[in-house]
Amino acid sequence: DASAVPAVPATRPSGDRPIPAVLGSDLEVPVRGGRLVRYANLDYAASAPCLEPVSAAVAAALPAYSSVHRGAGYASQLTTARYEQARHTVRAFVGARPDDSVIFTRNTTDATNLLARSLPEGTTAVVFDTEHHASLLPWGDAVRLAPPAFPGEAVRAADEALAAIDGSKLLVVTAASNVTGELWPIAALAHIAHRHGARILVDAAQLVPHRPLNLTALDLDYVVFSGHKLYAPFGTGALVGRADWLAEAEPYLRGGGAVRAVNDGETDWHDDPEARHEAGTPNVLGAVALAAACDALSATGWNALVREEERLLGRLRAGLATVPGVQELSLWGPDHPRVGIVSFVVAGFTAREVAETLSADHGIGVRDGKFCAHPFVRHLLGAKDGGCDDVTASAVRASIGIGTTSEHVDRLVAALRDLVSRA
Ligand code: PLP
Repeated sequence: DASAVPAVPATRPSGDRPIPAVLGSDLEVPVRGGRLVRYANLDYAASAPCLEPVSAAVAAALPAYSSVHRGAGYASQLTTARYEQARHTVRAFVGARPDDSVIFTRNTTDATNLLARSLPEGTTAVVFDTEHHASLLPWGDAVRLAPPAFPGEAVRAADEALAAIDGSKLLVVTAASNVTGELWPIAALAHIAHRHGARILVDAAQLVPHRPLNLTALDLDYVVFSGHKLYAPFGTGALVGRADWLAEAEPYLRGGGAVRAVNDGETDWHDDPEARHEAGTPNVLGAVALAAACDALSATGWNALVREEERLLGRLRAGLATVPGVQELSLWGPDHPRVGIVSFVVAGFTAREVAETLSADHGIGVRDGKFCAHPFVRHLLGAKDGGCDDVTASAVRASIGIGTTSEHVDRLVAALRDLVSRA
């Protein structure tokens, strides 16, 4: 009875609100010598800090929560309303079609694995070696494509690979690389996939915190992303896309919520993918947080967000270019458009040495390693196969977003200059 469901205040993103603040921007951390300095978080591509409106939305939902979809009590109905409102918000945020499924998952990895388990028998996945492991590994015997030398080469390679496959096929591609930040030609790849009767899955984990995404306009079949890279806390992601394969697939988890009825010898699973693949009590507060992040970004509007990111990214890259021995990594050259992610190496130092010095001496947080994209990082560095702790095939990654300041960027550049001057 819908009339019994307590109303959840409707959010109305206006597109012209100020850029919201992030939590923890005044965090102070100890550096060598015992001093405290303001933390410069330049590791947004790993996990972005929580936006203040996200924290407020979670705080507002905490006092009255209970299990979704079942209870008759007020708290249960309110929680159900909040959860379904969050689904609605996520659907709108990525411009999904009305009949697409929006399935809450734990993160991007969980979402790609859910789709991998839902492929029709005999489906062949085609995936570039440039992918994050979350998109590279779930597919079993996938057709693997070498890193393309330029964007048109990506389209040509996908075209050839898909043409050679009979039957059901899925092209898997990132929208923005977690290593170089470079944007991939997803509209052209979707077009090619559909010309061959294939579907396309876009890994949007690094795109949605930085750029708008419209699944309908781009004609994408599936997108996946994580809340913790989108200014919400850990534990929630989403798989959004076509319902039919998901409706036919085995339930991802078996248990309550996924099932309509259990009788002697017979289990009647829900056909609706959102119920079928969300067995067990869901992470409602995670969904509320994810939706609040979507609302907060929409309320600010992409023009302001992208303008500010471009300013900081330009400053960062120009600064890095002035440091002797620093070399930025890119697949398609320095002028190819990218989001706020820059990976680089520093001549004479391992990535680990650089990252540790930045942290220990300057209170700067960056990531070092292979960023869960081993084949791609090896390719960019021209390195041979090596294990996770092969320090010669690693890079440093600085990544920015809401809450990054010019001072953070300048401090990184100055710290690198200081490091190389002491070599
Ligand atoms: N895809 C990309 C492009 C990523 O950057 C990441 C995380 O680093 C993932 C997938 C996996 O995300 P999660 O660890 O949240 O599942």
